[in-house]
Amino acid sequence: MSQEKTDALVIRLADWSESSRVVTLFTRDFGKISALAKGAKRLRSAFEAGLDLLSESRIVFLRKSSSSLDILTESQLIARFQPSPSSLTSLYGGYYIAELLSGLSEEYDPHPRLYQVASDTLRSLESDDDPWPAILRFELVLLNEIGSLPEFDACLVCGCPVNDQRTFAFWVNQGGLICASCKRPDYEQRPIDAGTIALLKKLSDDDPAVARSVTPSRDQLTQLRHITTAAVSHVLERRPSTLRYLNFD
Ligand SMILES: [Zn+2]
Repeated sequence: MSQEKTDALVIRLADWSESSRVVTLFTRDFGKISALAKGAKRLRSAFEAGLDLLSESRIVFLRKSSSSLDILTESQLIARFQPSPSSLTSLYGGYYIAELLSGLSEEYDPHPRLYQVASDTLRSLESDDDPWPAILRFELVLLNEIGSLPEFDACLVCGCPVNDQRTFAFWVNQGGLICASCKRPDYEQRPIDAGTIALLKKLSDDDPAVARSVTPSRDQLTQLRHITTAAVSHVLERRPSTLRYLNFD
């Protein structure tokens, strides 16, 4: 058993006993962990207010060597999630992030970049800006980190590069694009234009400033949502349940 210290986002909470909880955390240095927080339901505990859903805290935990639960011993609040009161999309966008981190990350598989982007996305959802570009960036970075980001450079069948002269469609099972000449009726998809594909690349850029410079039109957002929802549902093997509440309009 070793004692570890890291930053963490609370992505799931479950009652364990009268006074304790099991907390699923997405941590900066260890990826996802599940830990028992003894006494977490008491008003005065070692965790104070640090264990609300989507709060970010600096934690100390005992890492168990066997398959039993880790033990959370301390948590110190860094930031509580306070979604913009003007938009329900911001609130449900946060729940969506928790659902995807919980469903698509593995225990003790660290992804520090994904941690940072998740944390940045939660902060963006607290502002009055349109929440969708930040949510899209999170989806794209997540897909990239787990090795499931579709190929956006060329047609998967004939290899023709993406350019303004052709339209493409997203071929979800193969994780890439198919051009109009290669498209067959059984791959019928909504068309995607080259401009939208360029936006996808910018939104998934390493540099957050590049992603922030993107201001998609409503039509482009619809196309982008279609691609990321299809790609995320494909790897999750179901449609994320939070999407029901995450109305696009
Ligand atoms: Zn083609």
